[in-house]
Amino acid sequence: MPAPIVIVGASHTGAALADALHREKWAGSIVLIGDERTLPYHRPPLSKDYLAGTMDDDRLPIRDASFFTERGIEVKLGRRVAAVDRAAKTVRTDDGDAIVYTGLAFATGARPRQLGVPGENLAGVFMLRTIDDVRGIRAHLDQTKTAVIVGGGFIGLECAASLKKLGKQVTVLEARERLMPRVVPPLISDFYMKLHADHGVDVLCNAGVTELIGENGRVTGVVRTDGSILPADLVVVGVGVVPNIELAQDCGLACDNGIVVDEFARTSDPAIVAAGDCANHPNRYLGGRCRLESVQNATDQARSAAASLVGKQVLYDVVPWFWSDQYDVKLQMVGTSMGHTEHAIRGDIAARKFSAFYFRDGTLTGVDSLNAPIDHMAARKLIATGVPLRPAQAADPSFDLRTLKA
Ligand code: FAD
Repeated sequence: MPAPIVIVGASHTGAALADALHREKWAGSIVLIGDERTLPYHRPPLSKDYLAGTMDDDRLPIRDASFFTERGIEVKLGRRVAAVDRAAKTVRTDDGDAIVYTGLAFATGARPRQLGVPGENLAGVFMLRTIDDVRGIRAHLDQTKTAVIVGGGFIGLECAASLKKLGKQVTVLEARERLMPRVVPPLISDFYMKLHADHGVDVLCNAGVTELIGENGRVTGVVRTDGSILPADLVVVGVGVVPNIELAQDCGLACDNGIVVDEFARTSDPAIVAAGDCANHPNRYLGGRCRLESVQNATDQARSAAASLVGKQVLYDVVPWFWSDQYDVKLQMVGTSMGHTEHAIRGDIAARKFSAFYFRDGTLTGVDSLNAPIDHMAARKLIATGVPLRPAQAADPSFDLRTLKA
């Protein structure tokens, strides 16, 4: 028997990788090591239904325990990989175990970025990444009337919508001039500004934070850069994530905003792959190297990584897609809007059912669909296949996008 393949990180990528290795008929054993105490679970509901209390715990696991045991996947939870010795092909866990590997996968993901202001450690201040974070927030809701969300990205806004559903008074503070500026164009930011305002959430842009203040160790307010103070008995910080690359860096792998991998998820060491939130990879749909934070990327890149570990080549070449649920609006994004030179709207913005098609020099590069799943599915195919679409066709609701063929 060869030494096992070891996967570091037991979440979306780690679970998909273990499954893919089994499908690839890897003859040796598979060891999945994660520092959280729970079997891999779905993170997207954490800021949505799970936070809002409309989803039970039993729907969170990605796979149940039997899935792993039936496939001979050894899952070690609550254990952190502390070091990797590439010369000896060994990982060392924080409980002193040393495991020799044939192949190693980094599925270490990302962790929330700290706000970096005084008061971040007060009781009542939370991040939102893990099941424990959400349990902490939920346990604090009895004492919460007024919540301030720092950060107007997807997680912050989903959290705002969930807390609003729970009847809280909610304010979102975004340091930049508009919501989600890194990932959506102004027309979508404006849509979300109005959506949240219509639900009674105060959204303030150009609103930086200098301090979180409290009494008796508990948060009571948020100090803005203009000196004003917003009362708060709950603060959720959602200001982005940083990739968990320290372990890879320490063992000498190339890193640059993520662990650097090629289009087969291979790192600079032939025995080691990386995938998911922690991996910086080439992506032709996004026009260069990038690090994606999505379930699609975690799942699809894991397949290429598993193939590479068993000596096959499966190109990671999937058009990126993502979703976000806020109130009764499902946003589905595919490709990118960045750098677009023209756009076309299909559907009715006021009715909250439309898609924005983005073109760069005549080529469709991305589509944001709001309550328009048929457009989204058609757009995924159009972008993946590169079938030409004209803006006028996109904007014409009587034009069936599914009739275009490669
Ligand atoms: P992670 O999920 O970050 O998992 C990495 C795991 O590795 C963690 O458990 C970490 O603790 C562990 N780890 C790290 N270092 C070590 C070590 N040294 N030893 C052992 N274990 C280690 N994506 C979407 O596409 N749509 C959504 O709607 C969406 N909503 C989201 C909502 C929330 C609240 C969050 C937090 C994320 C959301 N995402 C969404 C993003 C998606 O969940 C991530 O892209 C996905 O979790 C990435 O999976 P991963 O396995 O690569 O990394």
